[in-house]
Amino acid sequence: MNTYEHSVALDISRCTGCTTCLKHCPTEAIRIRDGHAHIISDRCIDCGICIRNCPSNAKKATYSKLDAVMKYKWKVALPAPTLYGQFEELEDIDYVLQGLLDIGFDDVVEVAQAAELVSAYTRLYLKNEGITKPVISSACPVVMRLISLRYPTLREHIMQLLPPMEIAAKMAREKTKREHPELSDEDICICFISPCPAKVSYIKNGFGDYKSEVDEVVSISDIYFNLLNVMRRGKVPVPFSRAGMIGISWATSGGESSAIFNDKYLAADGIENVNRVLDQLENGNISSLEFIELNACPGGCVGGVMALENPFIAKARLQTLRRYLPVSQTYLQGDEREYIPESYFFEEMPTYRPIQRLSENFAESLRMMADIQKLRSELPGIDCGACGAPNCRAFAEDIVRGKAKRDGCVVEKSRMMDEQLQTKEQNDHDSP
Ligand code: SF4
Ligand code: SF4
Repeated sequence: MNTYEHSVALDISRCTGCTTCLKHCPTEAIRIRDGHAHIISDRCIDCGICIRNCPSNAKKATYSKLDAVMKYKWKVALPAPTLYGQFEELEDIDYVLQGLLDIGFDDVVEVAQAAELVSAYTRLYLKNEGITKPVISSACPVVMRLISLRYPTLREHIMQLLPPMEIAAKMAREKTKREHPELSDEDICICFISPCPAKVSYIKNGFGDYKSEVDEVVSISDIYFNLLNVMRRGKVPVPFSRAGMIGISWATSGGESSAIFNDKYLAADGIENVNRVLDQLENGNISSLEFIELNACPGGCVGGVMALENPFIAKARLQTLRRYLPVSQTYLQGDEREYIPESYFFEEMPTYRPIQRLSENFAESLRMMADIQKLRSELPGIDCGACGAPNCRAFAEDIVRGKAKRDGCVVEKSRMMDEQLQTKEQNDHDSP
């Protein structure tokens, strides 16, 4: 039984069944049935591409509203570095952090600060013998889910370090408990301010054996106007940002890789490119690399569907902001330079949940595969989408799985009707 909780959902009342999302979904997770889209839960990786492409705004990301967060006694904001790229002519990150306090958060822990720690520990991690290289970053939850659905042999390449959001959440909780021992767990809300719906799914479902420390996720696009209102008042902020160039760079593709201080890396963004790299790695065609950074969104996290600003503009703003920052504001001390703390690891790799498995029985799977291939060769092969599946192969698979009927194909239906007509004419002709 599928128990995965998704963060991308459909508003049926808005869906016109236009098939746009069908053509864009990278995992063939959408079908059009009864005049509107359906998402096949087992296949969806919460990439948000259908949200970006739906002309009717019928696909939406689910996340918490700020009002729900404000009901907690103690709220800690974890701003993703992408948030800083949303504001025009922002000279100082502290204005954003002050804004978060002014709209009601009690404290702020920057994900950029945690990202600098993860970068420092990644450099240590890569020195370990016995790890499978190239190491694939674990930061993008869409990529992690894609690997767990499609690329079983690549799971051992995943870096077992927790992503920056999770490290920031741990730091936030520890700090709150240290400074406010009077607060109970129920009083505290660790709230990630996210550019991406996949982070919501990650928090709901955990990661391998790991349960997230984040309590709520709000979207950057939701919080932006609240922040803008208070930032316009021009209140001079207390300086407390701990983000350096490295931390801010995580918002854009290539930023995480550049912080490993080693040029044997590859950084790819956009789901099609991610698939190309993973295919090539699976086929053994990528050698002599130490590290692979993959971001499902175009341009990296700045391209997330829950961000507001054009990703190219956000990237340019972050470049300007970075110019006045030190390379890093977080340095490892003492033993930290030798060992990665145990609490920074997750133990179990995400489970392999193959989307292409046709049956639990191997012989049955092979038979179904052969049936799909035969059927596919008989279908028109024009991938028109009129049947409600993204292409003729997916339609053939739906038929073999018992989820669709052959006459759902308009071309096939017309051919069948022609055949029936010809048979009838022949019978009429033959009868005395
Ligand atoms: S893009 Fe998909 S969800 Fe949006 S209206 Fe068309 S069929 Fe419906
Ligand atoms: S979120 Fe991505 S995987 Fe899921 S239905 Fe939309 S496009 Fe497909």
